[in-house]
Amino acid sequence: MRVAYDCDVLVIGGGIVGLSTAYAITRAAPGTRVVVLEKESGPARHQTGRNSGVIHSGIYYRPGSFKARFAVRGAAEMVEFCAEHDLPHAVTGKLIVATERAELPRLHALVQRGRENGIPVRELGPAQITEYEPAVRGLAAIHVGTTGVCDYGAVARRLARLAEDAGSSVRYGAEVRTVGRRGAVVAVRTARGEVLRARALVNCAGLHSDRIARLAGDDPGMRIVPFRGEYFELAADRTDLVRGLVYPVPDPAFPFLGVHLTRGIDGTVHVGPNAVPALAREGYDWGTVRPGELAGTVTYPGAWRIARRHWRYGAGEVRRSLSRTAFTTAVRRLLPEVRAEDLIPAPSGVRAQAVLRDGTLVDDFLFAESPGMVHVLNAPSPAATASLPIGREVARRVLAGLEKGLRA
Ligand SMILES: Cc1cc2nc3c(=O)[nH]c(=O)nc-3n(C[C@H](O)[C@H](O)[C@H](O)COP(=O)(O)OP(=O)(O)OC[C@H]3O[C@@H](n4cnc5c(N)ncnc54)[C@H](O)[C@@H]3O)c2cc1C
Repeated sequence: MRVAYDCDVLVIGGGIVGLSTAYAITRAAPGTRVVVLEKESGPARHQTGRNSGVIHSGIYYRPGSFKARFAVRGAAEMVEFCAEHDLPHAVTGKLIVATERAELPRLHALVQRGRENGIPVRELGPAQITEYEPAVRGLAAIHVGTTGVCDYGAVARRLARLAEDAGSSVRYGAEVRTVGRRGAVVAVRTARGEVLRARALVNCAGLHSDRIARLAGDDPGMRIVPFRGEYFELAADRTDLVRGLVYPVPDPAFPFLGVHLTRGIDGTVHVGPNAVPALAREGYDWGTVRPGELAGTVTYPGAWRIARRHWRYGAGEVRRSLSRTAFTTAVRRLLPEVRAEDLIPAPSGVRAQAVLRDGTLVDDFLFAESPGMVHVLNAPSPAATASLPIGREVARRVLAGLEKGLRA
């Protein structure tokens, strides 16, 4: 029987990973018909449009991991991409600053890791810190030269345009509600009742990636636990306190980098994000609660194992979320001159963090495949930095699957 396909590849999700994947497919296999389905009315409305806008160097990540390989390469490619397409960006470099003696061994370990990942770093004492950042205080720091900033929303919009110019279609307001697979056909139905049939499907649904995998009949073996990151902005007359990017030494128990100071591409200085549990997958404030999603999280064994293991850290984060004074006290460790009234609330973001049943926070990017499908199950920071190599990796997997299907 001849099957009428609407396209070759359906991509669910118009964030930077889905759009980079569509772009990479059209570059690797011109003529492949790709349709991207995005539930919102435009691209980059979730993680991609709500982040720190940092082009990460790759210093933090375990050598050999997807994160290390894709961030180092991705950072260089992101700078080139922005330059080629005239998108706002700057390579500013950044400081990672130890403010307590207990952090010094971890700072030295980062120097080592940077070298293993091929990233040049410079070690600084207190006086040298103030040469870079006069208002920042610390016991020691490292300067990483290849870190930068850009506007990932603008990058996503350009990727969408490039994919469309190459013959792909990007459809907004197209929420995928069901996914079915029969033989060599993958079919989805959208909230509007539209049905689309394809040879392959790519799941880049970010905060909903585990749900899409389950809808497709695949067991993802993980669950997305949403962690909100809240930001403040420095008042306009205080932005001169920060020249570039200043990070604390991260806690290795968590895949989050700690509250940092980032001068964005538009000159505003963001302070954040923290990491508090979100009460909905798209829960951008404490008032947004989705009882069904919350119940799904709290009944998941992995979530209560995290709570049991990390309750002390979590309680501190929640306290700093609810009290601006507590938040300011934490920021003062790096920036002693900052006052509570200098901090103006700014839009938050929610991280799609994959958690295993045993409570392990998945650290690396996580991909899974089943016949006709590729799922991107964990693409947290630095996935925006690494989005060009990630897109190529997903494209390679889906095109290999298509080829196998054609030979069968
Ligand atoms: C607070 C915060 C700070 C960060 N800072 C940085 C940083 O400085 N540098 C960096 O490199 N990374 C950073 N990240 C990480 C980075 O933003 C993400 O890794 C990246 O944006 C992930 O892109 P994505 O396309 O996978 O997800 P998303 O951008 O979330 O896109 C997923 C898309 O899927 C759509 N979707 C979901 N379900 C459906 C459905 N059923 N049907 C149709 N569409 C659907 C959603 O609407 C969404 O648009 C940060 C993230 C956060 C939250």
